[in-house]
Amino acid sequence: LGNKLQDILDRVGKERQLTEAQVKAAMREIRMALLEADVNFGVAKDFVARVSEKAVGQSVEGSLNAGQTVVKLVHDELIETLGGKAAQPELKTEGNVWFMVGLQGAGKTTSTGKLAAHYKSKGRRVLLVAADTQRPAARDQLEVLAKQVGVPVLKVADGESPAETKRRVDEHLKTDFRDLVIVDTAGRLQIDEALMDQLADLQTAMQPTESLLVVDAMTGQEALNVAQTFDQRVNVTGLIVTKMDGDARGGAALSARSVTGKPIYFAGVSEKIAGLEPFYPDRVAGRILGMGDVLGLIERAQQADLKAMEVKKPGDFDLEDLLVQLRQIRKMGPLGDLLKLIPGMSRALPEGFNIDEKQLQRIDAMISSMTVKERRNPKIIDGRRRKRIAAGSGHSVQDINKLLKMHEQMKDMMKMLQRMSGPGAKGMKPP
Ligand code: GDP
Ligand code: MG
Repeated sequence: LGNKLQDILDRVGKERQLTEAQVKAAMREIRMALLEADVNFGVAKDFVARVSEKAVGQSVEGSLNAGQTVVKLVHDELIETLGGKAAQPELKTEGNVWFMVGLQGAGKTTSTGKLAAHYKSKGRRVLLVAADTQRPAARDQLEVLAKQVGVPVLKVADGESPAETKRRVDEHLKTDFRDLVIVDTAGRLQIDEALMDQLADLQTAMQPTESLLVVDAMTGQEALNVAQTFDQRVNVTGLIVTKMDGDARGGAALSARSVTGKPIYFAGVSEKIAGLEPFYPDRVAGRILGMGDVLGLIERAQQADLKAMEVKKPGDFDLEDLLVQLRQIRKMGPLGDLLKLIPGMSRALPEGFNIDEKQLQRIDAMISSMTVKERRNPKIIDGRRRKRIAAGSGHSVQDINKLLKMHEQMKDMMKMLQRMSGPGAKGMKPP
């Protein structure tokens, strides 16, 4: 019985720190996952190097195995890199001017309309400025959105100078008080120097309090270049990532954020006016890794671990406790599936790592065939009782012997773990 389970238990005491080999193998997979999510190559490389350095020698957490521990470290670092918590642009009571920039088709005009709706609903008085004179229809597009939201729009005329635009906006504000002005600008299909200059001139005239770069989540590898150039030319203060409702995994968000270091305020999640959400780094981190399910399982494993910690003193760990723990492990779902979700991750795990669902069932059956007295005090299980339990659960006496021995070893191991993690213990060292 339970040779594999026994193997794992044997290892628990020995492999409590991530080795360089484990981290290296896991990071190969992580790097691939990042590239598949369209994270810029250089950003992925830097990220992996940074996490690897942190990971080697890290304690393997509670009930997690080595692979899960690496995934958790990567996930945490991704969240951190994406900005930690959801952030919002700061708004003063008045005089807020936001400048929308980005490539053509990124979603500037749409996002301008969405922002107007969002802040109007929060009681702000919004004025839109249609400054995209590049395409004739662009100003009309914003006007339609402004009508839909119910906010005024000021259309910049062809050939109008930035100074004149500024003057017209100021004049509008004199008769119609507005505390948030959002300027929609011309798009560029690619970075174009002449257009960049125009944009910079308008920015200088308007003196925006925020310059928001709109990045299409589908931009992929180019996102880094785009973000870097815009940031250099117009000093971006924050980011909006659009089209997160599409297939894109969100690598562009990580690239743009990494290269500019600016907060990502919003995610566009549909073409509609209401399709704007705060940007949640934890959700996007899971999406970039393509392993939301895995993270859920890891969380459950941690919760199961917390419950296990509540169990008495290690010396009192009896067969009932073992049964409870096994059932918790089984509730987490087939562990084999968990590993399959992480492409190639199983290679990073200790050899022989595999909790067989069948073996868990067998142990469950054997313990279930015991009386409560026997479970609480396994010492009383003599030869006669072993025979009865074996027959009752459809196993051999030898199986029962192995189970009882495993339980004894687990108990010893738990005592040892408690000594190591007790006050004054330094990390988790091999015995
Ligand atoms: P601009 O050139 O930067 O002003 O881009 P637009 O605002 O005109 O948007 C270009 C296209 O992307 C339009 O068809 C929009 O409807 C679409 N779009 C913008 N944001 C989103 C979004 O968050 N999700 C989806 N699905 N489509 C979007
Ligand atoms: Mg536009």
